[in-house]
Amino acid sequence: MALITNLEEIHALATQRHDEFEIMRYMLEFLDDIEDAQLDAIVETIAAPIIAAIDCTQCANCCRSLDVYLTPDDAQTLSQGIHIPLEAISTQYLDHTLATVTGEWGKFKLKPCVFLRGNLCSVYDHRPDACRRYPQFTPDFRWTLADTIQGAALCPIIYNVLDALAAQVDNIVKKL
Ligand code: SF4
Ligand code: SF4
Repeated sequence: MALITNLEEIHALATQRHDEFEIMRYMLEFLDDIEDAQLDAIVETIAAPIIAAIDCTQCANCCRSLDVYLTPDDAQTLSQGIHIPLEAISTQYLDHTLATVTGEWGKFKLKPCVFLRGNLCSVYDHRPDACRRYPQFTPDFRWTLADTIQGAALCPIIYNVLDALAAQVDNIVKKL
């Protein structure tokens, strides 16, 4: 499996293939012969070797580019883990105003994330749940694909999973 990990290349290819990925999304939305759980299982099978093969410590683009939202539990975990009072975490690192607009509790004020050191997370064991789950394909791959496609231009894992899925979609449809 030849994976593309160069971030500039990923950005260019994902932008170029955006319409193709959107067409795949429409196809999958109308393909009700495959149940959501079945599609999730197919995507997990495709994604597992790609996730295993891509070294996130050579990338960290998500930590540089994405908004990271925290729950109160996330902030508590971070506070206990790095021995900074919750109030200080809240005022120094979190923006509650912008987060409230999206119905979230708080999000990191700065991008790149202040806890990024080189390509490594300095609070790895105490990082927010959103960081642990990213990139997340399932459950509900079919109904979250629009958001997933938006991430393809910045995340090599997402781009390569969509690329591999696009290559298999016709075969999946033919087998039905
Ligand atoms: S999850 Fe994606 S964007 Fe984040 S470090 Fe890994 S490959 Fe890069
Ligand atoms: S907390 Fe760690 S994993 Fe999450 S964005 Fe910051 S550096 Fe990345």
